[in-house]
Amino acid sequence: MTQSGNGNGLALAEKYYSQYGSRARELKAAGKKIIGYLSALGPVEIMTAAGAVPLRLKGNVSEAITKGDAYMETIVCPFVRNVFDAAIKGKYDFLDGMVLPHQCDSIDRTDDVWSDTLNLPYWHFLNVPHVTDEPSIEFMKDILRLFIRTLEEFTGKKISDEAIAQAVTAHNENRRIMRELYALRKTDPPLVSGAEMMKILVAAMSLPVDESRALVRGVTDEIKHRKLPSSGGKGPRIMLIGDQIDDVAIIEAIEGTGAKLVMDDLSIGSKMYWNDVEATPDPVQGIAERYLRKLKLPTTFVGTGNTYQETLEARFGHMKRYIEEFKVDGAILFVYKFCDPYGFEVPAIKSFIESAGTPVLYLEDEYSTSTLARLKTRIEAFLEMIA
Ligand code: SF4
Repeated sequence: MTQSGNGNGLALAEKYYSQYGSRARELKAAGKKIIGYLSALGPVEIMTAAGAVPLRLKGNVSEAITKGDAYMETIVCPFVRNVFDAAIKGKYDFLDGMVLPHQCDSIDRTDDVWSDTLNLPYWHFLNVPHVTDEPSIEFMKDILRLFIRTLEEFTGKKISDEAIAQAVTAHNENRRIMRELYALRKTDPPLVSGAEMMKILVAAMSLPVDESRALVRGVTDEIKHRKLPSSGGKGPRIMLIGDQIDDVAIIEAIEGTGAKLVMDDLSIGSKMYWNDVEATPDPVQGIAERYLRKLKLPTTFVGTGNTYQETLEARFGHMKRYIEEFKVDGAILFVYKFCDPYGFEVPAIKSFIESAGTPVLYLEDEYSTSTLARLKTRIEAFLEMIA
């Protein structure tokens, strides 16, 4: 069981970061069902309501893909290939099941490769729609109900609306506490470094919601008592934008120059924690609206504006708010090779953020430390330019 109210929150985060999945393995041994998921579209509230432990899957940026490429084409994004490689090498051999969302081609078109190769007792493809109009919300509710039914069949237990509502409350509280921790990055210099924050985010996504909440609460209590140096921070304040960046390597490359990573728009970071599920009479309605409308992903078309500028504002406006609130001096947009959804959006994100006077460095690369040296040079040149 995690303990984090006694000043060891950061040590625990470090442990769960470096021994990723170890707590889920323990819980499995204690009789819990563990459901792996990829992407911020994994409806964690429903897995929690089913009594299962949702475990966000990650790969290992320090390990080469040695087995996965025998099953998956190399045009699949390197993140998905690396996680799959880790899975078939046994990193997640304790999983009871997985849910993959209809997000991008790299996930969508590899569903059968994952399911046939891992052959887990439970498998579900969540057919998430890609537009946000009313019929799509109704469809999203239907596919969430289908997910609920399949989990009921798998676990042999009914998932009541009350259990879903309780899980919604628990995950909202988890998000609220994580946002409190993020707020400690607003100071100059930030009270929590980008590398520490990454470890906390990764640890949190490997824990059941109550343990994640306790961990983040403990870490926040520890960090808020730190004293700020009287001279303030000297390096530029950076925001990192991208999909699943889940390792400190690139963050250490940024912070090693003296820059401070103060905010993110990452799928394991602010995307997970910024928008709550509204408590609606039918709890599935609030979940559908949060995942389809509030969560801003490049695979969901947000066509709400009357003009192109209004549409950009609806899709990326939150990033401008982050820039103001966290006093961001520059943004790094990191996109994995072969990631079409993020790749298509690069010109729009870049021009939108730059129009607010914030420079953007765009990087496209692997999910691997093997190419980090060449990235470091570009990061350093960018940071020197804005310092
Ligand atoms: S990085 Fe891009 S292609 Fe890969 S899983 Fe994420 S959205 Fe899909």
